[in-house]
Amino acid sequence: MNLATNSIATLRRMLLAGETTPREIVESVATAISAENESIGGYLSSDFERALVDAEAANIEKPLGGIPIALKDNINAEDHPCSCASRFLENGYLSPYDATVSARLKEAGAVLYGRTNLDEFAMGSSTENSALQQTRNPHDHDRIPGGSSGGSAAVVAADMAVAALGSDTGGSIRQPASHCGVVGLKPSYGRVSRYGLVAFASSLDQIGPLTKTVEDAALLLQACAGGDKRDSTCLDVDVPDFTAGLQEGVSGMKLGVPREFFADEGLEPEVRERIEGALGKLEAEGAELIEISLPSTSFSVATYYILAPAEASSNLSRYDGVRYGNRIDDGGGVIAMYRGSRARGFGPEVKRRIILGTYVLSSGYSGKYYLRAQKARTLIQQEYREAFRQVDAVVGPVSPAPARRIGEFADDPLQDYLADIYTISANLAGIPGLSVPCGTVEREGRQLPVGLQILGPHLAEATVLRVGGAWEMIRDAE
Ligand code: GLN
Repeated sequence: MNLATNSIATLRRMLLAGETTPREIVESVATAISAENESIGGYLSSDFERALVDAEAANIEKPLGGIPIALKDNINAEDHPCSCASRFLENGYLSPYDATVSARLKEAGAVLYGRTNLDEFAMGSSTENSALQQTRNPHDHDRIPGGSSGGSAAVVAADMAVAALGSDTGGSIRQPASHCGVVGLKPSYGRVSRYGLVAFASSLDQIGPLTKTVEDAALLLQACAGGDKRDSTCLDVDVPDFTAGLQEGVSGMKLGVPREFFADEGLEPEVRERIEGALGKLEAEGAELIEISLPSTSFSVATYYILAPAEASSNLSRYDGVRYGNRIDDGGGVIAMYRGSRARGFGPEVKRRIILGTYVLSSGYSGKYYLRAQKARTLIQQEYREAFRQVDAVVGPVSPAPARRIGEFADDPLQDYLADIYTISANLAGIPGLSVPCGTVEREGRQLPVGLQILGPHLAEATVLRVGGAWEMIRDAE
């Protein structure tokens, strides 16, 4: 029996009842990886020699004692690789330090053993931009798992992991969770330290869990959240008990349904049906659905694809073959060395972002693009703030369509950018967002998962998790 089919909560109960051991759980994960990873490609690497030692030493009384957790390969953990799925960093590097989240998971008793695939430097929504390997959707191997945390979503969905961490700059936790049929939570900006996360766009990046259940997302967030002196954007505010409201249901809650999310002609009819079906059931359980308007939704893709590349172009300037990454030195001097290292180290999507970002920040154009995008971002923030005066949470789709086929948009990256329409505004506004599986749609004889998205006010993860928990109870009672 594969123990990795279980949730963290179930394994915790089994451990405490003496029905299993941390060693058995870790061995189960290793066996599942040997059987499945070749066809799905969710992991870039794993190390069970050390994991078994850690499992033997694990204290099961701790909140995550003996639970193996996979990490996206852009989150540093001591003595583990951290390639960001880039040729630039594919050099046998082992991180000398723990990201704050890695240290906190270890403190909570978790066992770190494996590194999951991603779009290079987390840029993308399909994991096709990984320079190292293709990850496939466990529900249909010809389709993308979503991205950029596609490896984390796929290994949880394929029961090669109990749970994983990902990062979300514009949807990279929620969208792959939606496409693979698992739970994904992007916390509020400032809720979780990014110390040790390789930066993509620093004003948008957050680390969060990909799990089998909403309760597990709450448990992982609990272990990771809280102030950190090493990340000045991480807020030193109270961390509530995120599991407390999971059973409370939605009776009396006000849920905002943004008109613009459903007016979008890109929203596939069957995805809309699944989401509207879920909203109807939440209403039947006592939630009040209130139509709201977020008029700047139509600007969010353009705003994000100016600000994120601008920040990326700055963050990625450190990869020069001197301080970080592989060096290509043909003996032509220092400039030729920079040029050679960057030309061969970065893949095409990363180069596209650096060029775009450098362009929008250039002195002649920053007023026209970068500064205007900042203003649009403020509008988006204000509209959410306004909405949350009327409603407790906002609900809608995660993605306009189920997982597409691998290679479908190979010549047209803009198509993927446009599909980020429902996720990126949460990053621009800094608010929490949760994706919870909400039925499937059939494509070519396969059932492909659809995710329901729940957004809440800044730092209101508990509210978002409560609605997610309520939806899970309704869905599972059917
Ligand atoms: N799909 C978005 C992008 O390509 C978001 C990526 C992310 O959240 N890391 O930038």
